[in-house]
Amino acid sequence: MRLAIASGKGGTGKTLIATSLARLWADQGRAVSYADADADEPNGHLLLNPTITREDRFSVKVPVLKEKKCAGHGKCQDICAFNAILSLKDSVLVFNELCHGCGACLLACPDNALIERDREIGTISQGMADEVKFYGGRLDVGEARVTPLIAGVVDAALDNASDEELIIIDSPPGTSCSTMAAIEQADLLLLVTEPTPFGMHDLKLAIELGRALNKRLAAVINRSDLGDNTTKELLEKESVPLLAEIPFDRAVAESYAASRLPVSTCADFRERLMLLSEELDIITRGASK
Ligand code: SF4
Repeated sequence: MRLAIASGKGGTGKTLIATSLARLWADQGRAVSYADADADEPNGHLLLNPTITREDRFSVKVPVLKEKKCAGHGKCQDICAFNAILSLKDSVLVFNELCHGCGACLLACPDNALIERDREIGTISQGMADEVKFYGGRLDVGEARVTPLIAGVVDAALDNASDEELIIIDSPPGTSCSTMAAIEQADLLLLVTEPTPFGMHDLKLAIELGRALNKRLAAVINRSDLGDNTTKELLEKESVPLLAEIPFDRAVAESYAASRLPVSTCADFRERLMLLSEELDIITRGASK
């Protein structure tokens, strides 16, 4: 199962649920990988505390001009949908931060004057957090385009996984391209939300995104006792199964604040995660029939 855990807004407890499920499943003897695809602000490692065994620099392709070959046709500039290349009289100027590496300018140039070069934008790390395989991405400071790095982290986890492995993809919050890159290859999208007007507003957007990508959806309401019923009503109206409600627990908050996974320290939280795990097994078994 490829389980993407996402939320319309930040701070709902997405990483708490993602890392806790990873630990629980590993404790149960199941093969599990955790991919921290929130490469702008990765923090799953703070809870899982992995030993990093490998780090690879991650690159994207950007165009460069072959020496003295530009005739200034301007076709590269015309075709670029991202305004990332400027045609000058006998040269080009590439704005690397805007370039999406689509290669259209290379194809458009009648003189075949452009080639691609690698440009490093971040690092992908791999390691082990006890029995949990860990993958994480970190964007270099000042870099604007996190989407390719996120796709790289997910690919690394999928490439190294066995057929039976449970893969948890901890997605970035929101509904932008970076979230889409994280959830694209998931079988199931688990939305972690909270019962507040803010949670409900962003949950609507997250459901919309999941539906646009044709994803099977399910939800968890975290801090379920602190708000109202509107989030639950929205899930019912949208026919999104609610798999678990997790009430606020001061012991969980204290454990989290101390970078200790509450699934290992709080019996009630662990019990609720076990029920969530069972619900996930049921829903995924149903999906594969
Ligand atoms: S590779 Fe694509 S995005 Fe980058 S400059 Fe060329 S056309 Fe523009």
